[in-house]
Amino acid sequence: MKVILIQPPVQDFYDTDVRLQPIGLCYLKATVNKYLPGVEVIVKDYHGGCGRNTVPIPKELQYLSNYYPVADKSPFSTFHQYYHFGRSFDEIEADIVEIQPDVVGISSLFTPYYREALEVAARVKRRLKVPVLIGGSHASAAPESLLSWPHVDYVIRGEGEKPFVEFLRFLRGQRRIEEVPNLAYKKDGEVYFNPIADNLPLDDLPIPDLSDFQLSSYDLAGKPMAFMVTSRSCPHKCSFCSVHTTFGTNYRRRSLENVLEEIELRHQQGYQVIDFEDDNLTYYKSTFKELCRRLIARFPNREMEFVAMNGISYLSLDDELLELMFAAGFSQLNLALVSSDKTVRETTKRPHTLDAYLKVVHRAGRLGFKIVSYQILGLPNESLASMIQTLAFNARLPVLLGASPFYLTPASPIS
Ligand code: SF4
Repeated sequence: MKVILIQPPVQDFYDTDVRLQPIGLCYLKATVNKYLPGVEVIVKDYHGGCGRNTVPIPKELQYLSNYYPVADKSPFSTFHQYYHFGRSFDEIEADIVEIQPDVVGISSLFTPYYREALEVAARVKRRLKVPVLIGGSHASAAPESLLSWPHVDYVIRGEGEKPFVEFLRFLRGQRRIEEVPNLAYKKDGEVYFNPIADNLPLDDLPIPDLSDFQLSSYDLAGKPMAFMVTSRSCPHKCSFCSVHTTFGTNYRRRSLENVLEEIELRHQQGYQVIDFEDDNLTYYKSTFKELCRRLIARFPNREMEFVAMNGISYLSLDDELLELMFAAGFSQLNLALVSSDKTVRETTKRPHTLDAYLKVVHRAGRLGFKIVSYQILGLPNESLASMIQTLAFNARLPVLLGASPFYLTPASPIS
């Protein structure tokens, strides 16, 4: 059996092109290799490293063009052109046909990009008679909507490793469809949902298999970079976030030994940067401090560089942890302020205070961290004045501001 797992291209005004490694698909590949060694799994990243082409702005976003009537080369030109980032759909179709898979799995992580996942599914169904399965955060949040399309046969909700292995066993005739946890499927025009079950314990999951990529496929400032995830879910409950729909409410961490084993492997493979993509990396401060101490002992000359581009909650940082992180090889800090407005923070259930934020920013700045502070523009209860207040608040601080427009994610508490 040959399985292809696909990261689709995306279409947007801009792309965060350093955060493309499809680590979830690499987890699936490694897990199938471990439990079903006869199955061949190929991970295809049709998004990263393939350049971009200008495409028309979709109808629902065309109103933005009025704000950018002329080509603008300033840093504020973000919304002037709309692009297709990644391989063209024609190229993807031809590539998949050449591979001749028996099963196609497609990742659909972000709701704004679900159409790209569906287009890949349509291209597969046009040329091949094979089952098409979609997984990822958007698939977990909106399975019925995806299954309403004729070219999607199955959706796996939540964490995918155990369900995907069971799904392949079902295709091999070793399981009944009802026995595949987390699966949603169609039968006689109806959609059926199998119950969500616990995934494998995190320490039992194999290290993600990056063998479909070159060392140079993903880099940070020219240094080979590997993604890592040391925990799943998040203990906080921000009202705009759908993390629990994908990972459940049980926040879990891998053991330190398990994490260090993966870092050691990546170092031996030639990676020089690790990007921790956890949703809440430092919640258990003492555990993370111990990890930093072990990294300092293992890489005393900062031979490895560490970043956490998915952001770190400043509530779980203190002076000692910041010092240890800097000594261990972190030099950039991505913090999520979201909003400086008290009402917005309280109504979105952000468990944060400006005092804690300022303390971390000043201490980290003195240590030499480059700090990026993320703000969400347009949250519920946000006004133009409060957005400007947050911008002005950060403008006085030693931070680079990263601003993201708010969009409502399906299955988030406020949706
Ligand atoms: S936004 Fe971040 S801190 Fe809040 S619940 Fe989601 S992952 Fe946790």
